[in-house]
Amino acid sequence: MPLSLFRGSLILPDSVLADGLLATENGDIVYVGPHQEAPFKDLTSAVVIDEGYIAPGYVDIHVHGGAGADYMDGTLDSFVTANRVHTRHGTTTLFPTTTTGKPEQIRRMLQASLESRESWQPDKGAKIGGVHYYGPYFAADKVGCHSVDGRRDPCPEEYLADFDLGIIQVATCAAELPGAEAFYREAARRGYLITCGHSSATWSQMEQAYAAGMRHVDHFWCAMSSISGLRQQHGFPMQGSMEQFVLMEQGMSTEVIADGQHLSPELLEFAFLMIGSDRLCLVTDANRAMGMPPGRYRFGPQEDGAWFESDGKVGFVSKDALASSVVGMDTMVRNMHSQTSAKLHEVVRMGSLTPARLAGLGDRVGSLEAGKQADFLILDLELQVKRTFIAGTRFQS
Ligand SMILES: [Zn+2]
Ligand SMILES: [Zn+2]
Repeated sequence: MPLSLFRGSLILPDSVLADGLLATENGDIVYVGPHQEAPFKDLTSAVVIDEGYIAPGYVDIHVHGGAGADYMDGTLDSFVTANRVHTRHGTTTLFPTTTTGKPEQIRRMLQASLESRESWQPDKGAKIGGVHYYGPYFAADKVGCHSVDGRRDPCPEEYLADFDLGIIQVATCAAELPGAEAFYREAARRGYLITCGHSSATWSQMEQAYAAGMRHVDHFWCAMSSISGLRQQHGFPMQGSMEQFVLMEQGMSTEVIADGQHLSPELLEFAFLMIGSDRLCLVTDANRAMGMPPGRYRFGPQEDGAWFESDGKVGFVSKDALASSVVGMDTMVRNMHSQTSAKLHEVVRMGSLTPARLAGLGDRVGSLEAGKQADFLILDLELQVKRTFIAGTRFQS
């Protein structure tokens, strides 16, 4: 692929650079910097973006599907469908996320991930960074919208075989389950981002988990322990929960679902101010109802996933329990920008470099930097995605 030049406001990890130049060649970024200092003889061919921004492609480490498909359907078709709809919303790298389910359903999803990664082409949308091995090791009292039947305690025969497939990058387990510590140690040995989610863990269970390599908590404030919840379960004295552990331990990171339905603006602002753009990720946690009309859908495998309802704005298990989001990363970025004091480059960082780095891909994707894969977006002034490029090729939606 020949040299391509884009001139405009570049959203960099630490600033927005006005009148910058982005140069790509052979699928990689070869120059990022001031337009005047660019080392190219002829800049007249540059595509000029005068109303909007050039941003890095978004990276989503927690995503179940979209456009009617759930990754747990386990077919190449479901992967292409979901990857493509997320690309239209700015995601260029994603981590298909398992739900609870039978061992063979999880295995089928992992195999489809491998095939999908190997057969990637630009028209197939976002690239797979790795799998987020999320279900099935959830606490029984915190399964949320996932099917209860598909939940279980960590089983080494199962997860070792799954880990050996070589596609997992992120691994979740509730810290209080028997066998959680061995799961964490094995995942740490393999260099995964280890997360505790769908859990009622106490402070001391979090400390033990941290010592075993756990470093992240899934969807902050959702399906996790709280001081008042622990008091109901364990009595007095009141004890610290997952929330306090993340806020106090600088080695911990977490993520928010900024769809405007799960968390109020003040909680998004609180998370940003307390945790910061290096430890806080934006995730979609989108399910198959994303980009689909309101209706009834299955969370997880098409054949037997738990039913939920979508009103077109969010998923519901019941009137007072949500079932993850139905919108893309561009909505999360816009909400975080309009509802918090985070600067534009900080918001974009939470949706790109921070998740990429935490999931181990920070040297390849997640920011506009020379040497990285040319994954970038053209955004208008309202942060709507106008064009998406993956590895230097424009995605045709
Ligand atoms: Zn969840
Ligand atoms: Zn989820």
